[in-house]
Amino acid sequence: VAKRNGRDRYEHFSPEMDEAARKRCLVEMDLREAITQHQLRLYYQPITQGSQGEIVGYEALMRWHHPVKGLIMPLDFIPVAEETGLIHSLGAYALHEACREAASWPHDQSVAVNLSPMQFKNSALVTTVEAALKESGLAPHRLEVEITESVLLDNNMTNIHTLQKLKNLGVRIALDDFGTGYSSLSYLRSFPFDKIKIDKSFISDMQDSRESLAIIRAITGMSRSLDIQITAEGVENVEQFKRLQEEGCSLFQGYYFGRPQPSELLLRRDAP
Ligand code: C2E
Ligand code: MG
Ligand code: MG
Ligand code: MG
Repeated sequence: VAKRNGRDRYEHFSPEMDEAARKRCLVEMDLREAITQHQLRLYYQPITQGSQGEIVGYEALMRWHHPVKGLIMPLDFIPVAEETGLIHSLGAYALHEACREAASWPHDQSVAVNLSPMQFKNSALVTTVEAALKESGLAPHRLEVEITESVLLDNNMTNIHTLQKLKNLGVRIALDDFGTGYSSLSYLRSFPFDKIKIDKSFISDMQDSRESLAIIRAITGMSRSLDIQITAEGVENVEQFKRLQEEGCSLFQGYYFGRPQPSELLLRRDAP
């Protein structure tokens, strides 16, 4: 942290920083407009179960259709939204929109919404989730929220209580990008997660890296004893799919099964 502060301070005086700050400011102005002008849209990527690729739900992934710049991906605007506090309205939009959409899907399909760690700083988060469920009429167990390990950093009790409140509503909680943080295993002790999503870097590596495969194996083994579901993220080919099945993964997500798409293009109930 000290190192990063030092670097920030250095950057503060560099011409590059002015450029970066200016750019961020422009994105911020644009992003405010994006929210009011309805330029943000959710795309949905299928999550499948078993060898037949039955679709059991979708993850909602945000896209920005900029009137001039075209399609902008989350990594190019979520960080700005987090820095500026716009993540709260953006996040509320995602929750409301995803629940509204999912309410029209078959009742055995769920929707997963990503929550930024920043959203946990807003005490209204639980109320927002409740409102999204109520307005849409979606059964709470059909909503899943995806969080990353940073939400639990330093055993943050406030955030753990918030997660517990969400769980009490009936919402499912998934730990996203698992394996990429620092002390992954200890986080499983701080909260009873419903699901773990193995980060896609392990999946893309598993055919060449014994280490990645070993880690996948350890995660699936552990999840069996803890009774937590495992999703393999970023499955791109049939070899990975087969291997992951052998390793005991039951849920899958990746380009092999389908790319994120606008809701009107979803081919519902289709196997890959
Ligand atoms: P994530 O939650 O881990 O989502 C999975 C990312 O992997 C998505 O990137 C998805 O398009 C991509 N992906 C899926 N299958 C494959 C595959 O087979 N191969 C490869 N290479 N990639 C695959 P995307 O849509 O660019 O989103 C990136 C990140 O942005 C997400 O990572 C999530 O952390 C964040 N994000 C997206 N939408 C939202 C949102 O509504 N709210 C918040 N707070 N964050 C969001
Ligand atoms: Mg996710
Ligand atoms: Mg992920
Ligand atoms: Mg990710």
